[in-house]
Amino acid sequence: MAKLRSVKGMNDLLPAEIGRWHRVERTFERMAERYGFAEVRTPILEPTELFVRSIGEVTDIVEKEMYTFEDKGGKSLTLRPEGTASCARAYLQHNVPNLEPVSKWYYLGPMYRRERPAKGRYRQFYQAGCEVYGDPGPHCDAEMIDMVVRFLEALGVRDVEVLINSLGSGDTRERYREALLAYLRPHAAKLSEDSQRRLERNPLRVLDSKAAQDQEIAADAPRLIDHLGEEDAAHFEELKATLDALGTPYQVDSSLVRGLDYYTRTLFEVRGRGGDLGAQNTLCGGGRYDGMIRDFGGPPVPAIGFAMGIERLLLSMEEAEGEAALDAFLVVQAPELRRDAVVLLRKLRDAGFRADADLRGKSMKSQFRRADKSGARWALVLGEQEKAAGEVRVKDLRGDFEGNVADGDELIAKLRG
Ligand code: AMP
Repeated sequence: MAKLRSVKGMNDLLPAEIGRWHRVERTFERMAERYGFAEVRTPILEPTELFVRSIGEVTDIVEKEMYTFEDKGGKSLTLRPEGTASCARAYLQHNVPNLEPVSKWYYLGPMYRRERPAKGRYRQFYQAGCEVYGDPGPHCDAEMIDMVVRFLEALGVRDVEVLINSLGSGDTRERYREALLAYLRPHAAKLSEDSQRRLERNPLRVLDSKAAQDQEIAADAPRLIDHLGEEDAAHFEELKATLDALGTPYQVDSSLVRGLDYYTRTLFEVRGRGGDLGAQNTLCGGGRYDGMIRDFGGPPVPAIGFAMGIERLLLSMEEAEGEAALDAFLVVQAPELRRDAVVLLRKLRDAGFRADADLRGKSMKSQFRRADKSGARWALVLGEQEKAAGEVRVKDLRGDFEGNVADGDELIAKLRG
């Protein structure tokens, strides 16, 4: 029989790695909550139409990368390739715009895109993201960008570059589209196959094409930022001024487009320069999408959001230690003491400690080896003598203390200290 393996580009996360994941996820949750966001969880499967309508028919994700299939009822379903569209659907479906003026949501979970797997690029990957509905202003954009930078700092990821751009809105977009088409048409024959096909329907996509010949032509294309209308320009100026006031460094990159159609006005990206990132160095991408809720049939609620790839974050913080899985490891001197050990373990766990033991009746030496490997701070020893005295031997594996402590409140206090 052929060996059973996971789907290409979809990885297992084994318990040995999970400490680092928890650290990133918990830091993100705490940070988002500090900024007033609350968690939302949406299904991993959605009607295909949701993504076609929001991300855009003429995009890499929708044209090439979605895991789409028909269920037994003949309905077309898709594994979510990103989180923004699902959140917007849930926001409308549950009538949230009528319940509160501003909503701040965060999410964390797996996304699916059938891309060519590489380091930092997978077919199942995890994103942590935030969305704000109902606030049209540039200060909200600045706060969001700043939060991402603070979050990365909290993880020790400081060597990053923040790029911002504005894609304008409504009229600006229309005027720019015309200017861009007028520039691109004479070059059409030299564009990649994808870009030639997309040119008339979605010329903006030519600008974020990865093909070298497209990038060469795109380099001299007219810049959207030069076509911004008055209100769009004022929004962008206030965003920059607020980032300045926060002391958050950024660079304006007028070539930043990003591969999804729904963006309007503010667009941003955070790229990492350190660690083991390689070519996939975009840690975070986000922007405004003031038209999506209305396009979904709702009221004209402005919105902004971002998503970060957790795998890429972990690559950028290669050296960082994860949280240890245990606080205390109990070493049992003789197999006859295992029943007492189980009772002691439960006491420790009830007191909130992550505690474990090896109860297979192995030698003390072997048990101590496991205690060391577990990363636990405390090694506890239960022997006949300790049992008779109602004590436990306590050894601080990261410090100097070693001594007997009375089993009970004194032990709990010692481990807390
Ligand atoms: P996007 O949803 O395309 O704006 O991407 C936002 C972030 O998700 C990127 O900056 C990456 O960190 C991450 N990301 C996107 N696609 C992948 C992928 N195939 N594998 C791993 N991370 C990804």
